[in-house]
Amino acid sequence: MSKSLQAIRGMNDILPEQTPLWRYFEGTVARLLDNYGYRQIRMPIVEFTELFKRSIGEVTDIVEKEMYTFEDRNGDSLTLRPEGTAACVRAVLEHGITGGGQVQKLWYIGPMFRHERPQKGRYRQFHQIGLEVFNLDGPDIDAELIVLTWRLWGELGIRDAVKLELNSLGTSESRGRYREALVEFLSAHLDKLDEDSQRRLKTNPLRVLDTKNADTQAILVDAPKMADYLDDESRAHFEGLKARLDAVGIPYVINPKLVRGLDYYSKTVFEWVTDKLGAQGTVCAGGRYDGLVEQMGGKPTSGVGFAMGIERLVLMLETLDKIPQEIARQVDVYLCAFGEAAELAALALSERVRDQLPNLRLQINAGGGSFKSQFKKADKSGALYALILGDDELAQQVVGFKPLRGQGEQQSIAWDALAAHLATCVVQG
Ligand code: ATP
Ligand code: MG
Repeated sequence: MSKSLQAIRGMNDILPEQTPLWRYFEGTVARLLDNYGYRQIRMPIVEFTELFKRSIGEVTDIVEKEMYTFEDRNGDSLTLRPEGTAACVRAVLEHGITGGGQVQKLWYIGPMFRHERPQKGRYRQFHQIGLEVFNLDGPDIDAELIVLTWRLWGELGIRDAVKLELNSLGTSESRGRYREALVEFLSAHLDKLDEDSQRRLKTNPLRVLDTKNADTQAILVDAPKMADYLDDESRAHFEGLKARLDAVGIPYVINPKLVRGLDYYSKTVFEWVTDKLGAQGTVCAGGRYDGLVEQMGGKPTSGVGFAMGIERLVLMLETLDKIPQEIARQVDVYLCAFGEAAELAALALSERVRDQLPNLRLQINAGGGSFKSQFKKADKSGALYALILGDDELAQQVVGFKPLRGQGEQQSIAWDALAAHLATCVVQG
């Protein structure tokens, strides 16, 4: 196929074999978030470039080198969203729904775009489910975000495979003091830092803590620790969060090097990491961003949130073999009909059954075919039962009812009794 007719590198089709697992995952999360009182918000996929520069920060990896930015026909600079928080903050400000201290507990789902090097678990179009909470500034809500993800891992059966890493970045004042101390320390070792870290030391020194370079990591062992620079308020906040996680029994490790890629975090930051996915080990990450709304032109409004990567979590379910049996089956009943008259009767009958059993997954044979070929299709569909309607059945106003999996003889069921019969043998989701 010519290159122009292929999908863009790092942007994937999610094929029908894969969508049941995606829908199971998304459905599980959506139900959980409903139960915890979060409401969904949907933002556009494209925003003014300026929004991301202002919120994420000019010297972050995302803004420096990962954004899909283009000019539209009006000459405006637009960007495919690389993450959801910026657009969510823009939306709540634009609609005034966080004004006067109104609490908002929001979530969103959708594709994000970053021009990264594609590899397992890292793509150029990927999907996130994100949460953002506004106007709650205590550690109780930070804890709730973590507790509900912990419950999610439990429901998905992957609790043993993830680990919670926590840190506090303090308020911007305490972070400022820490930054100074860190810069002083690192400047004294400048010639031993890798190139990237030397650059970051000037632009965004906290990000040096994030380095993957082993030599720089060795130097960092003796670097000043954020924990020693925390102000009292941030310290109390962090203790409050840890006490709540302890109360629920959620294990965590404090990672003083956890700084997150984005500029806007304050106080709590956290990541759920796994060693099951190779290098792309972070499946969910977030933190508090109390200064962001104001930075974007709103009144001071606290915020906290996280985003999880759907591809990585789906990959984990596959890798750990945690795909529920029942999601593989898409069809409950397959209806075969032979000849024009029987086909008409079958269609009318199937619609009557659907009226009575709206959740029944009933597939009606299309395209005709011999007894043998229709039966083959019924079997391949994964259905539990085949229904058979030929001339004899038509004459007697019955259908043949044949179990396709396991035991049971074929029986005849009157049309009028069919829905009631199916209701007893198909468990409806
Ligand atoms: P990483 O350190 O892996 O680059 P990040 O810090 O850039 O992640 P965030 O911006 O915090 O990631 O996004 C939250 C989550 O979204 C990540 O933990 C990950 O699960 C997922 N994610 C981020 N970038 C990608 C990508 N390019 N492809 C697939 N998933 C991604
Ligand atoms: Mg990244």
